[in-house]
Order: sequence, then structure tokens, then C-alpha cells
Amino acid sequence: MSPPLLRVRDLEKHFVLARRRIFDAPEVLRALDGVSFELAAGETLGVVGESGCGKTTMARLVLRLLEPTRGEIVLDGTDMLDCSKSELRRLRREMQIVFQDPLSSLNPRMTVGVSVTEPMRFHDIGTRTERVERAVELLEVVGMGPEVLERYPHEFSGGQCQRISIARALTLQPRLVVLDEPVSALDVSIRAQILKLLLDLQERFSLTYLFISHDLSVVKRFCRRTAVLYLGKLVELCESERLYREPLHPYTRALIDAIPSLDPTARSRGSLRGLEGDVPSAVNPPRGCRFHTRCPHRMAVCSEREPPLVDVGGGHRVACFLNQ
Ligand code: SF4
Repeated sequence: MSPPLLRVRDLEKHFVLARRRIFDAPEVLRALDGVSFELAAGETLGVVGESGCGKTTMARLVLRLLEPTRGEIVLDGTDMLDCSKSELRRLRREMQIVFQDPLSSLNPRMTVGVSVTEPMRFHDIGTRTERVERAVELLEVVGMGPEVLERYPHEFSGGQCQRISIARALTLQPRLVVLDEPVSALDVSIRAQILKLLLDLQERFSLTYLFISHDLSVVKRFCRRTAVLYLGKLVELCESERLYREPLHPYTRALIDAIPSLDPTARSRGSLRGLEGDVPSAVNPPRGCRFHTRCPHRMAVCSEREPPLVDVGGGHRVACFLNQ
């Protein structure tokens, strides 16, 4: 079996917060706490969870936009946390990101041509003419004509801006693209078009996607495997088809039950029914299983010990005492 393109081990990010009072000990926000997963070349891994669960922090750590507190990130066999500056610069070209809000991810003072060629200029790739030719080529791939080069982001719709952002992300021929809620700011009618475009580009350029989303219905259709995060912890990970058919963790079940249904006879959905209370603070997370304060199945052990993430067969990993 070929080694994974991306391997993440025990990744942690703790933010030390400002003291409330001068003699107080500083509080620590545990945004991500010991997350491990692998991503094969050409695969799409979806990462889901409520806001504040750590999925965007994880994406930024993988891209080295944030420094981890602890852990290991290995891209194509190179440890990104223990490599030279020149190696890191090379690896950065292999990874790109597409953000949630396409309009604000483009510089409003730059023309589309300047925005799309900027990454190549930064990495000193090609002559100016070659960079423009490459930009035109990629804009055409995402369905935009060369006439857009001289225009500004505000002249385009959200869907068009996202196409431009995707073209810009591809200029350095990345292998891994982090898609951070890439369609959640778009109209429903445009979402399907952008998702189809991303699938076409994945096949054409052999891309590997890390797909961050709070929308489980999109992840179900788009991702081969899905990882579920809760309060900075990975609580379940397996093939999407299996996860949605037989979720094992009570939190995953609640998320899937909350997917809105178009069937008027189906059970009312759209909220995390059956769960008590809100997500606790990541500054002082619950002891034991972090989900025990909301779990309808909690047992005595749940507040005493933390359930390890174990493989229950076929690569289906879950962190819950009900399954151990
Ligand atoms: Fe619920 Fe206990 Fe499982 Fe946590 S370990 S999800 S509290 S049953």
C-alpha cells in the first residue's frame, strides 16, 4: 500500500489567553487536542462538527498558517514541523486553501489577473507573460474567460469569485487543497455547480482534498471518508457511506439526525435534538469524555476516563465506551 500523502499525529493547538486579573493564572483554550488521521493521495476527507469544534484550527495547522503546540504533520514523507526553511517553502506550494467567503478572500484592490498570478510571482515562477498565460488557462478551466483579467472582485457574483479563488489556488499545481466551507456562503443553486467543478478538477489534476464543513449533507455526497470533531477531539472517523448508515458515536448520530430532510413526512430535523445543553467551553473542557455533559447515554465511567479512539473494524474508528 502506498504511504499517505498527509499524516497527522497527536496534533494539538492550545492558545494561552490574556489574564482576566493580574494575579490570575492565564487560561488555556484547547482548540485542538491530540488529533490523528491520514489522507491518501487523491482522496477527499470531510471534517465536520459544530462551530468551535476545532475544524478550522486543524485546517490552518495543516497548512502551517498556525504553529501547533505539539504533534506531527508529515506531507509526502517530509515532517513539516522539522524541516528546513527551503523545504517548508517547497511544501507550501504543494498545499493551498480555498476559503469560505470568496469575495473577502480576494483583494478588492487587485484585478483578477493580479490576484491569480500573485502566488506565482511570490514563488518566482515563470516570466510575467508565462504567468498571465497560466492564469488565462486556469480561469478557462474554472469556466471564466480571459476578459475577467482586468476586472475587480466586486464586479462578480459569489459563485464567480469562488471560481476565481479556485483558479488562484491551482496556479502552483498543489497536491493537497484545503476546502474550508467552500460552498456555505453561496446560494443553493450555485453550490452544486461549484462542487461539481471541484470534483472535475480533482480528477483532472489528481488533487487531494481536506473538506471542512458544518453541512453533513454536502460532506456525505462529496467525501469518501468523514471525520467528526467535538470540542477539539476526533470522536469518529470512517467511510462516509458507512458513517451515515450506521453512526456509532452519540454525537455523530445527533449530527446526522439534524440533517434537514426534504421529505415532509420525515421526522422533524434541523437541530441537535436529544442533546442536552450547549457545547461546553474549550477553556475548561469536561473531564473524561468531553461529550458526557450532553450525552443521553452517559455512564459513570464517562466522566472519569477519556474513551480512546479505537478501530472497531474496517477502519471505523470511534471514541465512545458504548463501543469498547
Ligand atoms: Fe456518551 Fe459515554 Fe460514549 Fe461519551 S463515552 S459518547 S458520554 S456514552
